[in-house]
Amino acid sequence: MERTLILLKPDAVTKGVCGTVIARFDEAGFTIRGCKMMELSSEILRDHYAHIADKPFYPEVEKFMQSAPVIALVLEGKDIINRMRDMLGVTDCLQAAPGTIRAELGSKEAGKSKMCNIAHASDSREAAETEVARFFEEGELFEY
Ligand code: ADP
Repeated sequence: MERTLILLKPDAVTKGVCGTVIARFDEAGFTIRGCKMMELSSEILRDHYAHIADKPFYPEVEKFMQSAPVIALVLEGKDIINRMRDMLGVTDCLQAAPGTIRAELGSKEAGKSKMCNIAHASDSREAAETEVARFFEEGELFEY
């Protein structure tokens, strides 16, 4: 079993598609271990997006990620990290494979399709461990 960190981004929250996305996770058989709504500080965003913090588009990403709250989830399942990345699709919603969450629900506007892409998912086991610890305290994760 693996765990992954999901952020339902401000576009998912404001478009009202969080339920649609979570329904896909339920249908895939994933278990919700943690769930909370949060406003993200510049500090946590700079840690989370350290790999893009020096890119020219980063200030736009920060502004977008602070434009509304996000819903953070910890999900568990077999091979969930790879399966979730497949379900999500590639970064640019215009390039994402048909049927993926980003292709179906993300922005199709040329200037926004790379940024407003509905959800974040951890890209490796190591990243998942770091990201779960970044967004959740021990007592906010549940075994049942
Ligand atoms: P992913 O979320 O698919 O793993 P990255 O880690 O490369 O993608 O980028 C993190 C986030 O930064 C993306 O999900 C997207 O919101 C934003 N982003 C990435 N590349 C661009 C870009 N060229 N222009 C605008 N925003 C971008």
